[in-house]
Order: sequence, then structure tokens, then C-alpha cells
Amino acid sequence: MKTLLPTSTAGSLPKPSWLAQPETLWSPWKLQDEELLAGKQDALRVALHEQQLAGIDIVSDGEQTRQHFVTTFIEHLSGVDFENRQTVKIRDRYDASVPTVVGAVSRQKPVFVEDAKFLRQQTKQPIKWALPGPMTMIDTLYDAHYQSREKLAWEFAGILNQEARELEAAGVDIIQFDEPAFNVFFDEVNDWGIATLERAIEGLKCETAVHICYGYGIKANTDWKKTLGSEWRQYEAVFPKLQQSGIDIISLECHNSRVPMELLELIRGKKVMVGAIDVATHTIETPEEVAETLRKALQYVDADKLYPCTNCGMAPLPREVASAKLNALSAGAEIVRNELLSRSSG
Ligand SMILES: [Zn+2]
Repeated sequence: MKTLLPTSTAGSLPKPSWLAQPETLWSPWKLQDEELLAGKQDALRVALHEQQLAGIDIVSDGEQTRQHFVTTFIEHLSGVDFENRQTVKIRDRYDASVPTVVGAVSRQKPVFVEDAKFLRQQTKQPIKWALPGPMTMIDTLYDAHYQSREKLAWEFAGILNQEARELEAAGVDIIQFDEPAFNVFFDEVNDWGIATLERAIEGLKCETAVHICYGYGIKANTDWKKTLGSEWRQYEAVFPKLQQSGIDIISLECHNSRVPMELLELIRGKKVMVGAIDVATHTIETPEEVAETLRKALQYVDADKLYPCTNCGMAPLPREVASAKLNALSAGAEIVRNELLSRSSG
């Protein structure tokens, strides 16, 4: 990466209202069959264009072709019954109706590879592609077959590795695994969560990232955050082992959170995608606010390893809010980039 402080987003961006109901998770598609395929590609083009207009350096598909960051991937696997649904508590936090694992899970064909090739054709910029992580996948399912969270996670890790290798071959520069579950199940993360993640990246030559956040700005998450006290030290439990892992980049929630910035010291040496945009509020950050978060992070992250980013995906936000936040991220990064350059030349 040539640019200092290259900007990116955690992943999702709002969908156009002609494709899906805005400001809603798991929003049903408004188109069908060929029209849906074409609509998703058009939405991807728009999402890319929005990022480019805002001057985002590492671009993504804005997750325009998926209904949800976990379930869309699972829908493409065999061994999972989507008719047979059970209510489970996701991340120990909120009830959701989820599909059931009824047999051995496997990937019959690529899930996102065609979409990634399409994005690759649209731009020469570095592209990042998000996949769900093994632990977050098992946490969004009811398992009636393996009867073991760990066993199922290893199965998913193998499947994710197949998909990741094909995404790399399609020209993806950074493959990111979303693991919000890493912020909840600390013992499991250290026992097998990070190990299964390393299985998912086995043999990859492109860069790899893990995104660990406090979730989308939905009520179940904001209510949970209120119970976490004045200092959020969840990252402390998993950072030491992540620092030792083969993952290249760690993507984190920082701005407006109560995460003590000094915890970043625990992953010294890794590249860090610092969340400088709060996705849980419609208030647009000023460039100076973004810059301030980045300056704080620079105390613990070397400048060449700092990647300004959003706290999480922006899918549930109104489009104009998401777009203004992209601009703020870009402008804030520019302020700090100039400070770093004038310091090194002066
Ligand atoms: Zn997130």
C-alpha cells in the first residue's frame, strides 16, 4: 500500500431503496431473478462510486449482493436447513430465528467469487472483501448435527479457506473475516477461535484482516453497550493471542466507544484498521474529530500500520448519512496524513 493512512470501511454500505428496504437488517429484496442479479451489480457500482467520490483508498462492494453478512454465506452451503428454524440467542445478547445445521456442511460452489470478479473489473484500486468468521457463523445457527461449537467452527474454517483462496485468485487484495463474536466468548476465542481463523487463512498470499466490533448500531447492541461500564476492556482478553497469530490486520471499534486506546499496545506490530467513524449515530463526525481519534491511535500504532476505517458496517444508516461519514473519514485522514508528512519533511 503506497498511500500513508489508507482509508477503508468495515464493509457494508446502505443499499438503494429500489433494491431493498433501507435502514433495515435482513431486508427482503425488491427484485427477482435476472432483475435482481442486474440490480445487485448496479448497486455495487453505485457503492463503489460513492467510495471513490469520497476518496476512500481501499474499496469494497459495500456488501450490496448480500442480505446479511453471515446468513447469505450460510445460505449457499449444504447441510443447513433454512426452513427448519430455531430461536437462539446471538452473541449472548438477542434472540433471532436462525437456520438449523442438519447434516455435514459443505460448499457446493463459490459464494461471492463472481461478485468479487465483477468488483475487480470495475476498479484498479486495492479491494477488500469481507467474509464471516467461523465463530460468528456458528453463533448465528442452531446446530442439530455436530453438537459441538468447536467441531462446527473447524468445518466452517475449511469451507471459508476454499472461498478465500478463490477470492484471492479473483484479485482481492485483503480478505477480512468478521468476528464480532470474539468480543463475547473470550475462553472459546483463546481455546479454538483464533486457531480456526488461522485455518481459514491457510495458504493465502494476499493480506488478511479480522474485524472485531461491538456490532451494528441497532438497539440490542446499543442497550448492551450501556451495561459494559466506563471502560470496555473486551479486546484485552483476545489481543495477546491475536498478536501472535498470522492475521495481518486487525479492524477495531474506537471512536465514541469506551475502549481504552492503550489496549492497542497489545497488538503492536500488526496493521490496525482504526474505527474513527461511529456507525451507531446519525451525527456526522467532523474531520477534526476523525483526526483526533487517529492521533490518539498513533500513540500505539506505527504510522505505516494505521488504516483509518469505520467502527462497523453502515448498512442500517440512511444513504446520505453514510456518504457524509465517508467524506468525514477521508478528510480526517487527510489532516493527519499532512501532519505526518510535514513532520517527516520538516
Ligand atoms: Zn462490525
